Amino acid sequence: MTVEIAINNASNNLYYEPQGNEVELFTHAYNNQLPVLIKGPTGCGKTRFIAAMAEKLGRPLYTVSCHDDLTAADLVGRHLIGPEGTYWQDGPLTKAVREGGICYLDEVVEARKDTTVVLHPLADDRRVLPIERTGEYLEAAPGFMLVVSYNPGYQNLIKGMKPSTRQRFMAMSFDYPSEDIEAKIVAQESGAPMELVEQLVRLGTALRNLKDHDLEEAASTRLIIYAAKLVVSGVGIKQACYAAMAEPLSDDEATVAALKTVIDACV
Ligand code: ADP
Repeated sequence: MTVEIAINNASNNLYYEPQGNEVELFTHAYNNQLPVLIKGPTGCGKTRFIAAMAEKLGRPLYTVSCHDDLTAADLVGRHLIGPEGTYWQDGPLTKAVREGGICYLDEVVEARKDTTVVLHPLADDRRVLPIERTGEYLEAAPGFMLVVSYNPGYQNLIKGMKPSTRQRFMAMSFDYPSEDIEAKIVAQESGAPMELVEQLVRLGTALRNLKDHDLEEAASTRLIIYAAKLVVSGVGIKQACYAAMAEPLSDDEATVAALKTVIDACV
């Protein structure tokens, strides 16, 4: 089974820096038992936000990274064979439904549409999960919440989400934070001094403004944090920026060279 499950034990006080009113909006969605769709580029804080909200709301969190081999059984569960014969094992979605937890499907557009169909009766006011294999018809416990995210980059425009799926969600758009908020995040996450952080954040903005190249995505907050951590541990700033903010973004030599030119000009 290739499902990643992360269980949040609601005790570690996870750092999350709000960008706007997302904490309030999400809390209202939770209070009204509405499923939430979060759109935004890679590394802008979607996963951290959900983990922080699960902690704040005191709900267990089940995270599934979606991919095109993900089956409905990976989400719902399957019969396994043990020493005493076959037994049923709940998948992460079923666990969240039973326990009143949050089930977070990251990059949901990567999953096949016949897999996401299992979400439909959970994502509208029925809030039920029919499990064909066991004959159960599970009603979601009160705290259950379904959250999906995807990155609407150009490749995903083709894949998209079925309108019948997406119209069941309340949606929120995330983007890279403003420079002052991003600086706070990078400082907190890397322990780097503010002067360095501000320099790296400005570089991040400059790289994001580089429009002419065939870049699917620009340097994310995550990559700026990596660069800051590398510098803190002793790597030269230019090398750190090449390794964290240029090389990961493209395999095209001309594009990487253009990114490095911007880095050379900024640090
Ligand atoms: P996504 O799920 O959008 O790909 P993540 O939530 O994994 O991105 O964010 C990447 C990293 O950036 C996080 O691990 C965290 O260190 C940092 N980060 C981004 N945004 C925030 C934020 N608003 N508050 C705290 N940390 C953040």
